[in-house]
This record gives sequence, structure tokens and C-alpha cells, in this order.
Amino acid sequence: MASRDFDHFASRLLPFVKPLWPRLSVGALCVFASLGTSLLFPQALRVLIDDGIAAVDGTLHRLGLLLLALLVVQAGATFARHTIMKSAAHRLTAAVQGDVFGRLVAQDIAFFDEERVGELVARINSDTAELRRLFTPILPDLVQFGLMTMGAGALMLYTSPQLFAVVLLMCPLFLGSLWLLGRRVRARAAEVAEKHAEATSSAVELLAGIRVVRIHNQETREAGRFASSIAEVVKSQGRYARTTSQLETATAVASDGAIVATVWIGGALIAGDGLTQGALAGFVMYALLGVRASRLVALRWAAMLHVQGATSRLLSLAAREPRMSLEGGLVPEGVRGAIRFEDVSFRYPSRPDEPALRGVTLEIAPGERVAVVGPSGAGKSTLGRLLVRFYDPDSGRITLDGHDLSALDPRWLREQITLVPAEPFLFARSIADNIAFARPGASRREIEDAGRVAGVSAFAERLPGGYDTEVGDQGVHLSSGQRQRVALARAVLRGAKVIVLDEATSALDADTEAFVRQGLRSLPCSPTLVTVAHRLSTILDADRVILVDGGCVAASGTHAELVTGSEAYRELLSTQLDDRSLPQDEEARRTSRPAGVLGPSRTVVAERHGAVVAKRE
Ligand code: ATP
Repeated sequence: MASRDFDHFASRLLPFVKPLWPRLSVGALCVFASLGTSLLFPQALRVLIDDGIAAVDGTLHRLGLLLLALLVVQAGATFARHTIMKSAAHRLTAAVQGDVFGRLVAQDIAFFDEERVGELVARINSDTAELRRLFTPILPDLVQFGLMTMGAGALMLYTSPQLFAVVLLMCPLFLGSLWLLGRRVRARAAEVAEKHAEATSSAVELLAGIRVVRIHNQETREAGRFASSIAEVVKSQGRYARTTSQLETATAVASDGAIVATVWIGGALIAGDGLTQGALAGFVMYALLGVRASRLVALRWAAMLHVQGATSRLLSLAAREPRMSLEGGLVPEGVRGAIRFEDVSFRYPSRPDEPALRGVTLEIAPGERVAVVGPSGAGKSTLGRLLVRFYDPDSGRITLDGHDLSALDPRWLREQITLVPAEPFLFARSIADNIAFARPGASRREIEDAGRVAGVSAFAERLPGGYDTEVGDQGVHLSSGQRQRVALARAVLRGAKVIVLDEATSALDADTEAFVRQGLRSLPCSPTLVTVAHRLSTILDADRVILVDGGCVAASGTHAELVTGSEAYRELLSTQLDDRSLPQDEEARRTSRPAGVLGPSRTVVAERHGAVVAKRE
């Protein structure tokens, strides 16, 4: 492992290891105790063979008891070491998992545009499990067997310098294979982790989209796709296994070669009176110990490289600094809800070649109700996403009451401006819990009041569990319109001064939508309402309409003004807007407008409406 890589790896892990020092110190003591007894064992054995067997004064029994005592100490130290290190390993894993998850949820939204949820889950789950191996057995074994190798080496040198020189001859083969194959182990381990994350990611995606899979009869094909991802994992594991087997073989050849050479040359030395039989027995025991220890060092070193490879992505995720912080910045005294976009241009970081907004300038007064309309992909939702600072503009600026959004505390900002998407995400909790997500700690009464405004009560009170009904995974037990109403109730409970509704009522029937609109209009905080709309009824309810096209503001004014003044708006009305569910009162309003106000487009709208009515009949 290049030392720079290792430093990097160690420095990322150090903060997690620091709190475990007391535990690790006790563990280290046990490692040393176990090591000491292992090294004393052959020495005691040598004395027992050379002096104890021949002696007649009970030395043999004393030495036998000493060996027994060493055995007991070693067993105790080994047990304590494993228990302590395992508990430290579990704590390390939990700390890394908690930290990585905390950092992930703090990442900017652009990060999530590029990452796959399944892969992140795999990194948190499986890669952290690899870290566990650091404490049990890698690091303790590296210390114990590293010291044991050195101790055995010193004792071999002391017992027979000639035989020690023979053992040293095998070192180049041993260290060379460790160096060469070790790097490959790290790369292969990273590859296995990568393939594993890809397979998990595809499984998570398929299970989340199981309804789409079912509707298109794709179970077999998609199960096959998952099987291919698993096959890729197996292939990468095969490559990894080949590399580790090569390493194990090379180190085994080097170490077993050392033993063969020792016995062979040692035998010759005994024949020439250069060595006693006890010394050869002791040396061989030290050599066996040293060889076994050094092989374990090699394997643990390879395992360390494996962990480094497998966790490199996890640790770089843990170290990633979000491009946008979650808090810190200006917190103004009060808020009126005045919005300004000043020459705002923006490209999504994941699609840097295509501008989503180009030089948008617009102003929204406090308490104003604005409908944003335009063709699909025009940039309407992007306006809302920039308002809640999912992203920052590339140029220009957006202000709330004259304050640049980027100067405001993001937490405070998101208390003042909230966004309700068309496809809201509900957690697998109760309806009440889902609404209270907007303001944890809200009283039951506040939750139900918000639910009433958003039309949740109309269905929740008919359910056996009422507001305590569990909504299932992603709210699957509710209809789309019911899910939207729960999300709207969140916005109401939030009490934000600016509410962005991004087609947030698209799944509601006309009457319910009118009811919710009325509820939002009568909120005591008189919020500024920015509604991305496809429905004529919503547009007619707005004070002003903003037409967005190709990432620019193409026109802005009241519906009547745009009808007379904007060809693009008239075109949109005739081709894009969904007025099929226009409620009766809106219909009356629309058709009762004086002809002069609607101008030429009245015919267009009336014609279209007429066509729809005819269709209904
Ligand atoms: P629709 O009415 O279909 O919802 P829209 O007007 O709301 O469309 P936006 O969602 O604002 O359109 O998208 C504007 C452009 O930005 C589109 O070209 C879209 O493909 C692109 N876009 C939207 N979200 C992302 C994203 N997360 N990453 C990259 N490009 C995006």
C-alpha cells in the first residue's frame, strides 16, 4: 500500500477510532499477554527438553506446571482480546454508519441527482461491515503476529545465527509477492464492492418500481437483469479470490521453504557438532512460529488492503463536503414574502450543457397568488426548486424581501418558503405523523386543523384509524389525491410565508381542488402562493399568470391581459391546459366574462371548452 494512500485511509478513520482508545488499550494489553506467552512457550519447552527430562529433582514437573500456567494465561488473554476487539469493531462500524448517514442526508440535492439510492444503502451497509474486520482480526493480528515474527526472529538469531541466515534467504520472495500482489488485492476488493453496490442498487430500484414491473410483465426480464448483476459480483469475487490465492501460495512457498531449509541445514549442523538437538528443536519451533506469524502478517496485510479498497468510496462519501450548508447565515426579524428573480440563469449540475433557466427576471408581491404556466420542460418547477434552494443559480440572484437567498440561513429560509411537489413522498408512518413531519412537536389539534384546510379530514375521518391510519410504504395505502392532500396539509402546518405548489393539486378532483384553494387563500398568514399549474381553473384563480417558455419568462400579466396580449399564451391555452375538470362556479366565471376582456382568445377557450363539453355528452 502506498504510504500516501495508507495515510489517507488512516486519517479518515482516526476520528472514529479515537473514542475507542480505552477499550483498544485493554485489547492491546491482551494482545501483548498472548504474544508474550506464545514466545515464552518454546523457550520453556527447550529448557524442559534439555534440562527437565534429564533432571531427577522434580524440575520436569515444575516446568510442566509452568507450561500449563502459560497456557492458561494465553487462553485468558486470547478470550479477552477477541471479546474486547469485537465490541470495539461493532462500535466502530456503528459510528461510521451513523456518521456517513448523517453526512449523506446533509448533502446538497445535486449530489442526490447523481447518486443511486441503492448504491448508497449498499455502501452504508456492506462496506461498513468490512471496516469491522479491522479490529477483529486485522489490526490485533498485525500487532501480535508482527511482534511475534520479530520476537521469533530475534530468538532464532540467538539460537543459531547460521540457521537464521538461511531463513532470511526466503525473505525477498515473501516480501516481493506481498508487495506485488497486495496492490492487486486492494484494486480487486474495490471492484467487488463496486459490483456489489451496483447489484444492490438494481434490486432496490426494481423493488421500488415493482408496480411498473408488474404492469409491463417484466418480472422475468428484471429478475434476469438482477441475476446478471449478481453474476458480475461473482466474476469480480473470482478475480479477487485468484489474487488472494496467488498471494497465499507465494507466502506459503516462501515460509514452508524456510522450514525445509532449516531442518535440512540444521541436521547437517548437528552432525558436525555445530548445534545441539534441543537447539534445533527450539529453532524449528521458533521458525514454525515465525513462519506462521509472518504468513498471518502477510494475509492480514492483504486483508487491510482489501478493507482499504472496499471502503475507499464509503470513506470518500463520509469526507464529502456539501456544496451548500444546511444552516448558518442571515435570520431577518420578520418576513413579508416578496420574491424577486433578477436575471437568473441556471443549469442542473448533472446536465451542465443545457440551460434550464436563462436570464429570468420576475417579481412577486407579498401575498400575491401567481400561476406559473408553460410547456413541459420549460423550467417552471425549476423556479420552485431554486426558491427553496435545492440549487443556487449560476448567475443572477433571487431575493426574499430584498435579501439574497444565498445570504439567508437555509433552515430559516425553508421555514419561510415551502414546496409541495406533484408526487409527494409519504413516509411509512401514520397520516398524522406525515403531516407533523413539517413541524415536529405540533399538537394534535394543529395537525388536524391543517388536515381540515387541505381536505385530509374529508377522507381520514372515514378511515377506521382516522389520522392514526398507517399510510404504507411511500403512502401506497392512499390514493394519489389523498397523498397530495397530506402533503398540502404539511405545507399548511409549516405556516410558511411563501408556498410553492408544483402541480400539487393535479390529482385532486375539481371540487376538492377548489376547496383546498379556498383554504389556502384564507390562511391567517396570507402566504404568497406560487402555483405551477396545468389547469385553467387554477390559473383563473391567480392574481397573475407567468408564462415560462424555454427557460425564460415569455409573458406575465393577468389571465385577461395575456389572453389579449400573448400569442404564446393563447397557443398554450388551446393546446396544453387541462380544463376538463373546471368546476361549475369557475365555468360560470369564465363564460360570464365580458367579450372585450377575453378578446380573441375567448373564442379559443370557449371553443375548446365547447369541444370538451361535447365530448362529455
Ligand atoms: P413539467 O411541466 O413537465 O413538469 P417544467 O417546466 O416544470 O416541466 P422543469 O422540471 O423545470 O420543467 O425542467 C426544466 C429542464 O430541466 C428540463 O429540460 C428538464 O429535463 C431539466 N431538468 C429538470 N430536473 C433536472 C435534474 N434534476 N437534472 C437535470 N436536468 C433536469
